[in-house]
Amino acid sequence: MAAIAAEADRAWERTLAEWGAAPGTPAERDLAALVADAPDRFEWRVVDAALDLLACPDCGAPLGSGERGCGPCDLADGNRYAAREVDRPAVAPRNEHAVRVAWTVARHPHRYGPRAVCGMELSLPEVYAGRMPTTAQAQAYRRLIDGLTDAQVESVASLDELLRLAARR
Ligand SMILES: [Zn+2]
Repeated sequence: MAAIAAEADRAWERTLAEWGAAPGTPAERDLAALVADAPDRFEWRVVDAALDLLACPDCGAPLGSGERGCGPCDLADGNRYAAREVDRPAVAPRNEHAVRVAWTVARHPHRYGPRAVCGMELSLPEVYAGRMPTTAQAQAYRRLIDGLTDAQVESVASLDELLRLAARR
């Protein structure tokens, strides 16, 4: 999570420099609003960084991160997926999308069910390392997570631990 957050910070710093906007100025906020309005023109880390700088007019949370049902947040959270997802070198196609979805869900767990959050948190290190589960593997992990107790869903911290918990049942 920290590594991706740092990447988003750097992506935003580069975008600020490209547009000649200084951090902490109204120009930065204007650029963030421009990016949020045209996510398809920017890389997803830039879009996420821009949303973080904008406050939701309804709930006051960083735009797109409020509770589900907040209109502007739901709209921004849906639109964020229009952003560009450029696969890193030497990873499977669509890996960047998997990284991005897992990061987004893990960052905003209150917007998703606990088992969905658990699955994304466990997969994030894998997909960030460039590995992609097969469909069968993903379905198997989902079944194992469905078999956990609520407390285990909260505490399980790795795919290895998930497999150990499942083996004990
Ligand atoms: Zn909101």
